[in-house]
Amino acid sequence: ITAPGSAAEVEEVVIRGIKTKTWKNLPPTLRSVVEAGRAHGEKVFLVYEDERVTYEAFYRAVARFAVELQGQGLKKGDRVAIIMRNLPEWPVAFYAAASLGAIVTPLNAWWTGPELEYGLTDSGSKIAILDTGSYGRLAEHLPNCPDLQRIYVSREIDEIAHPQVTKLEAVIGGANEWISLPDQAIPPAEIDTDDDATIFYTSGTTGKPKGALATHRAVNSNIMAGAASGARAFLRRGEAPPAPDPDAPQRSSLISVPFFHATGCFAVLNPSLIGGAKLVMMHKWDVIRAFELIQREKIQSAGGVPTIAWQLIEHPLREKYDLSSLESVAYGGAPSAPELVRKIKETFPKSAAGNGWGMTETCATVTTHGAEDYANRPDSCGPAVPVSELQIRDPADGVTVLPPNAVGELWANGPQIVKGYWNKPEATAQTFVDGWVRTGDLARVDEEGFCFIIDRAKDMLIRGGENIYCIEVENVLYDHPAVMDAAVVGIVHRTLGEEPGAVVTLKPGASATEAELRAHVAEHLAAFKVPVKVKFWHETLPRNANGKILKNELKKLFEEDAATA
Ligand code: AMP
Repeated sequence: ITAPGSAAEVEEVVIRGIKTKTWKNLPPTLRSVVEAGRAHGEKVFLVYEDERVTYEAFYRAVARFAVELQGQGLKKGDRVAIIMRNLPEWPVAFYAAASLGAIVTPLNAWWTGPELEYGLTDSGSKIAILDTGSYGRLAEHLPNCPDLQRIYVSREIDEIAHPQVTKLEAVIGGANEWISLPDQAIPPAEIDTDDDATIFYTSGTTGKPKGALATHRAVNSNIMAGAASGARAFLRRGEAPPAPDPDAPQRSSLISVPFFHATGCFAVLNPSLIGGAKLVMMHKWDVIRAFELIQREKIQSAGGVPTIAWQLIEHPLREKYDLSSLESVAYGGAPSAPELVRKIKETFPKSAAGNGWGMTETCATVTTHGAEDYANRPDSCGPAVPVSELQIRDPADGVTVLPPNAVGELWANGPQIVKGYWNKPEATAQTFVDGWVRTGDLARVDEEGFCFIIDRAKDMLIRGGENIYCIEVENVLYDHPAVMDAAVVGIVHRTLGEEPGAVVTLKPGASATEAELRAHVAEHLAAFKVPVKVKFWHETLPRNANGKILKNELKKLFEEDAATA
């Protein structure tokens, strides 16, 4: 990528009746990414505990599993669910299914059994690949997932009683053995750039999780956008971006966000594979483990959500480790204090800080902030990546475009915007309009195009990078027989950003304790969604004239607690 945004690299195509700018040299499909990755041969691609998987070994595992999936009758457009925390098998399953033209449907591996059942039935997944923990939670719900024909379970499973379940290792072997798999190609498949590639679940601006359906063009656009925004930093200084150097030492990144989030998959995994980077994985975020790995693997890029960046900076044991290899601490996905930029520079002087904004509906990145611009704008998440555009519109009508610096709802467009929500035409029509996505974020954009996220119009909070949609938790609280009224709000937390808190009114004569209500939510929803505190309100909850609960009033209840603690 030499001149981002220039006519030489960008072309206009008509996608689903809408003119869209796109990248000319975009890798056409996810299959082309994994095939290009094979050229990195003996270099190490994935590191997990004591397992080291080279690019060649990775390709062999993908090809072996693709042959297996084809043998199961998998066809273009079928859905394949992946329900695993970060393990080397995750990307193997992902690229094997995508290379056959299937629609890969990663689900959150922290979800409970009922949540997983919902994701599997909503997507109509035919095949699922799970880790042992997720299988344990799903097992009793399998009779309710009639579309599922075959299930692969990875690692540490002693006994498989179910006839539809196969041990993944029985097919592809352990990660350290992938290099000994036969040298075979991924079976042929005809896949177009505008075919469906992935479904990632998110609640968008409202309600229950919905599947954001992305094409190969949308997901691969992230590779181009990331590279082009790196080059943009040079262009802003009036310098030519450096030409790619094939002899440059291999880059090493720590992946601390899950692959099942759009950022982990599209902004980290996919660009690393095509670029020949070493990707060091953690099963679960743990700051001490991260320090050990940065030192051992000489990691250059780390980061994830702001919570992770704060922990890297503030942990008292940080100085015991040699972290001098770090060159970039990038974060996004949740609001962050402007102070974080200064702290990163102070703590890791060689390192650039970088904030980026995006959402599942945009296959991750839409804005990025290069380090050199931070001095004046530490609170910005940067301008749009080349090819994409931002607009601030009047939230009241969703149409009127507001002038620079006015605060309104952020809308975005670009080739990375997903096609819509899986089987949800109404929600799709509300959120995706003429190639633009309504984000539900309140923001302003200055004269030079720098975006500043001010607040959220959508009823959601973000706990350490995991979105929690208040309505989902409120609906579970309403299901409890003693609850008459319920509201979930964000309680400010220094490192996690926010945590969920609930305010409930009980039915006359009914009783329930805080512990009971928390246990009730935990039965239905993943642990990170369970309110850390439940407060009881003795009248009906305060509402405005339209009947909307005044959540800012309720938030104050928790702020008062913090002040007196
Ligand atoms: P998700 O779909 O889970 O990626 O969540 C997307 C939402 O996360 C956005 O709509 C924002 O509300 C929030 N978000 C993402 N990136 C940032 C950022 N850099 N600053 C503030 N909020 C962000």
